[in-house]
Amino acid sequence: MTTRTTVTVLGLGPMGHALAEAFLTNGHPTTVWNRTPGKAAGLVTRGARLAATAADAVAASDLVIVCVQDYEVVHRILDPAVDALRGRTLVNLTAGAPDAARKTAAWAAEHGADYLDGAIMTPIETINTPDAVLLYSGPAELYERHRPALDALGGTATFLGTDPGRAAAHEVALLDLFWTSVAGMVHAFALARAENISGAELAPLAKGIGQLLPSVIDDHAARLDAGRFDGDLSTIASAASALAHIVETAETDGVDAGVQRAALALFRRAVDAGQGGDGIARLAQHL
Ligand code: NDP
Repeated sequence: MTTRTTVTVLGLGPMGHALAEAFLTNGHPTTVWNRTPGKAAGLVTRGARLAATAADAVAASDLVIVCVQDYEVVHRILDPAVDALRGRTLVNLTAGAPDAARKTAAWAAEHGADYLDGAIMTPIETINTPDAVLLYSGPAELYERHRPALDALGGTATFLGTDPGRAAAHEVALLDLFWTSVAGMVHAFALARAENISGAELAPLAKGIGQLLPSVIDDHAARLDAGRFDGDLSTIASAASALAHIVETAETDGVDAGVQRAALALFRRAVDAGQGGDGIARLAQHL
């Protein structure tokens, strides 16, 4: 039998709980702590040790995972426990801004702790399954050292480099894509409803639109990286015209069009600059 690394998990919201469960399932002796200790009950039944304080939890393991609401909460929990962190590795899987990750890495170094930042890009039900997607950044040697334990979380883990803010930077960009797309989806269904189109009627066609995105993403990324802004496939002027129809229809139907107006304004900036015949990759320069 191999000995599994002892792990501490701070934070037992839905995600922290799933992480602790994955470590337990994979045979890691696991200590947990949460502001609301009652959330540890199921984990304790499965063999986790519930620490009385965050400092006790940190002291219990060389590998400390924190996954709470935001970086402010990370510091609220760990600032008073900082002495216990000395000589240990903190892996912060809390979502946040790249700059907060860099500042937390500097704070950890100041207090003699090793620090790896991470981002979880998939929902809780993927943890400990092949569908989990995790991103990490920080010292490469640290990632390699703790990789066997972190593998308990399942799925695909990608190490993105030594800048501790790089995982969070990827996460923020990906969440930008996701949530602005979701805002567009919510608006599309509201607009459809105003035109007496039910959710069930629009959904199959809406999924077809979603399926166009992967090739649009590949094409956009390649053009951006190559500095190619020509409108050989579609132009900014044409897209601006489509957006104007969306805004007009929404406003006729009494549906708020604030988000779509903001998008239209971006496209129009490029048209006003004489770039209406260029492709949408050009828009990056207007941001
Ligand atoms: P939350 O983001 O709601 O975080 C809940 C955790 O934060 C709990 O442990 C909670 O403690 C703690 N917390 C909040 N405020 C305080 C405070 N003032 N002092 C001490 N502890 C506090 O839920 P999740 O577990 O879902 O998310 C954790 C992180 O994982 C987030 O950064 C989230 O963005 C990220 N994530 C979550 C995903 C998901 O599917 N849930 C997917 C991908 C990433 P208490 O229980 O006492 O309230």
